[in-house]
Amino acid sequence: SDSQIPAQHRAIVVEQTGAPEALTWTTVDTPTPGAGEVLIRTAAAGLNFIETYQRSGVYPMTTPFTPGTEASGEVVAVGENVTTVSVGDRVATAAGRATYAEHFVAPAEQLLRVPETMDLAEAAALPLQGMTSHYLCRSTYPVSASDTVLLHAGAGGVGLVLTQLCVSLGATVYTTASTEEKKELSLQAGATEVFDYDDVATRVRERTGGKGVDVVFDGVGKDTFEASLSALRPRGMMVLFGGSSGQVPPFDLQRLNALGSLFVTRPSLAAYTATGEETAWRGEELFAALQEGTLNLRIGDRVPLAEAARAHTALEGRQTTGKVILTV
Ligand code: NDP
Repeated sequence: SDSQIPAQHRAIVVEQTGAPEALTWTTVDTPTPGAGEVLIRTAAAGLNFIETYQRSGVYPMTTPFTPGTEASGEVVAVGENVTTVSVGDRVATAAGRATYAEHFVAPAEQLLRVPETMDLAEAAALPLQGMTSHYLCRSTYPVSASDTVLLHAGAGGVGLVLTQLCVSLGATVYTTASTEEKKELSLQAGATEVFDYDDVATRVRERTGGKGVDVVFDGVGKDTFEASLSALRPRGMMVLFGGSSGQVPPFDLQRLNALGSLFVTRPSLAAYTATGEETAWRGEELFAALQEGTLNLRIGDRVPLAEAARAHTALEGRQTTGKVILTV
């Protein structure tokens, strides 16, 4: 309908799952928003680990597809029954469809408004890792000032944000990271101490007088799961939220009894942003934290969207810190 919206646009498309080279930059039809949806001209898409699982085939996908659910940009068209946003609004979301593209569609109720003071491309760094960090420490395990937390990959996208949120809730936060540079970044985010992966359970036990931590946030998965269980206090909470080292194999529930009546959960963002109200609440708390300065976003790299393959290689190869945004 709008003459400014081209019938076709450029997007990353995966024809066949596989290595990062499966991400090809091509021309496809511009999507149109349905009822309750809006069309957004992309400023930047956020890079997230889940897109590597989808691209490589770890998470089954129907091909061809355009990856991505997180992005920021300007609303350029609205579908039927949209009353809360208008053309021209600056927004960001974790619930877009096919955001590795020059335009994308998102549900109006899943949009966060980007403050005028914030760079629109940089706003793509917040929604997915921000809301994930928020639900993990405010809803999955509500972190309090008396808690001691262990968090893996402390210099990663989720890692840096979740550390800052836990610290602002008053908790003591221990993290892991693989290089000196990453350890330094994790300390700057407020970690009390950063450990190597190989002896983390022993170190954390020492620091807690033999007791163990109250909660572990583990997005590394396969390589860290056992150490995470060993680091917990009796009745502690194991939050497995990802598998950047690979997926955790099937687990015998009886072991939770032997290990001290532990809890294990495997949450997903969608279940914690099921309504527009819940998403808006998380967004408001995150923007408030940015405003107050208790939360800082680290944009580790800006990569042109056309070069998304390079960004995937870096993320899978543990070469990134903080957030990588894919700019249009
Ligand atoms: P990160 O920026 O944290 O990148 C992954 C990091 O994991 C690496 O930088 C690396 O840090 C660490 N890592 C440890 N072992 C490996 C390995 N073998 N290969 C690659 N990386 C490894 O990514 P994200 O912040 O995007 O995501 C973090 C995790 O959170 C992912 O598992 C993701 O799937 C999950 N996630 C889950 C959500 C949910 O709702 N359940 C939502 C969002 C993210 P180092 O070098 O320091 O070890």
